[in-house]
Amino acid sequence: MYDPICAIATPYGKGAISIVRCSGSGSIELVNQIFKGADLTSVASHTIHYGNIIDKGQVIDEVMVSVFLPPRTYTKEECVEINTHGGMFVTNKVLELLLKIGFRLAEPGEFTKRAFLNGRIDLTQAEAVMDMIDSQNNLMLKQANKALRKEITILIEKLREKLLQLLAKIEVNIDYPEYDDAVEMTNEIILPNLKIVKSEVLTLLEHSQIGKTVNDGIKTAIIGRPNVGKSSLLNMLLDEEKAIVSQYAGTTRDIVEGKLNIGNITLNLIDTAGIRESGDFVEQIGISKAKEVLKQAELILLVLDNNEINDYDKELLNITKDKKRIIILNKMDLNNQPTIMEDHIMISAKEGVGMNDIKEKILELSKIYELNQIDGNYLTNARQIGKLENALSAINDAIIASEAYLPVDMVELDIKKAWNLLGEIIGVSSGDELINELFSKFCLGK
Ligand code: GDP
Repeated sequence: MYDPICAIATPYGKGAISIVRCSGSGSIELVNQIFKGADLTSVASHTIHYGNIIDKGQVIDEVMVSVFLPPRTYTKEECVEINTHGGMFVTNKVLELLLKIGFRLAEPGEFTKRAFLNGRIDLTQAEAVMDMIDSQNNLMLKQANKALRKEITILIEKLREKLLQLLAKIEVNIDYPEYDDAVEMTNEIILPNLKIVKSEVLTLLEHSQIGKTVNDGIKTAIIGRPNVGKSSLLNMLLDEEKAIVSQYAGTTRDIVEGKLNIGNITLNLIDTAGIRESGDFVEQIGISKAKEVLKQAELILLVLDNNEINDYDKELLNITKDKKRIIILNKMDLNNQPTIMEDHIMISAKEGVGMNDIKEKILELSKIYELNQIDGNYLTNARQIGKLENALSAINDAIIASEAYLPVDMVELDIKKAWNLLGEIIGVSSGDELINELFSKFCLGK
């Protein structure tokens, strides 16, 4: 039994309707006290009713009220949703009234937390709800839906099952050494099994790291000396004139910070306006600024002028050589002296030529195509990936112990640790602290 809670579930601001959500024991009875239109305590589940919210005989709002009886509700508890008119004043009035008659204001994520605590969803599904709200592209949405359908849980459960079988056999050996028919578990038997699980965890982790890139975006810097055409390139990529393009070196004063979506990949652009300082100091200031930018960036779009590669450009080429980068030779329309260079893309930002090549290269570098091939069998949530990394290191420890021919009960400790860590991904062995921390990140009313 959970106390009745309520919250505005729709975003703050003006809209056609707002929804005030209620859940917990006695919710229907309570809302019925302030609703005129139908006796909500005797209506069928999953029905919606027209009427008014009344406070001391005065109509507050004309509303539609949905009634959901347990267990087939979002939280598995009694739920009521009041659709009010979409102004903040009226919605807040309804909320205040609910608080006055006995509801408590829900904490962020408390509805989803209850769905978890009441056993309707597991932890990966709860996180999927959050990922769904945060999704910014089709792949993220697809992945959140997969997690919501429990597919991620099943993936992890399969890995756990393999470890559990090993654990069970080791336990039998330790507890009942006199059983003749139990195969004696030796490191020779354990080791190959552990290696199989390790390679599966490793593959899942690699794919998950790519998946995370899809979720978080790639920190990208467009760099190059003044006047090579960085702003023009950005404009072409943005398909709109956000940056100011200038014909004088170093006078570009644009803000190149922001998000740029290329296919299903989001580029989080780092503001590199600073490296276009004009004047005599370009060489010194420019290079040191570029180095600063390099530290933060995961991907570099290095723009060069096809007609002239000078020492400054060579220095930029040199300091970016160990980074994930795309070398872009701009102004190919002028084509005075085509510069041959390994692995570069020729473009004309002015004429919009070569943009697709850049986009393709970005998608290739992000390895996003690999994700399409594996059909979504990966994690995207940072917490889950962290646990998976820990589980992998526990499996590695088990392998090292096994290879060193330590007693099997020592190896077992590491296997158990890995099994538990995988369990934490799906929330089967998670403590209260984690639960509270996790749900507090949700928005109100969810
Ligand atoms: P930034 O300082 O690197 O941001 O360079 P801008 O984008 O401001 O471009 C500097 C100058 O080069 C402007 O006059 C642009 O019109 C010109 N420009 C940019 N791209 C091209 C190109 O592909 N071809 C030609 N011919 N001119 C270009």
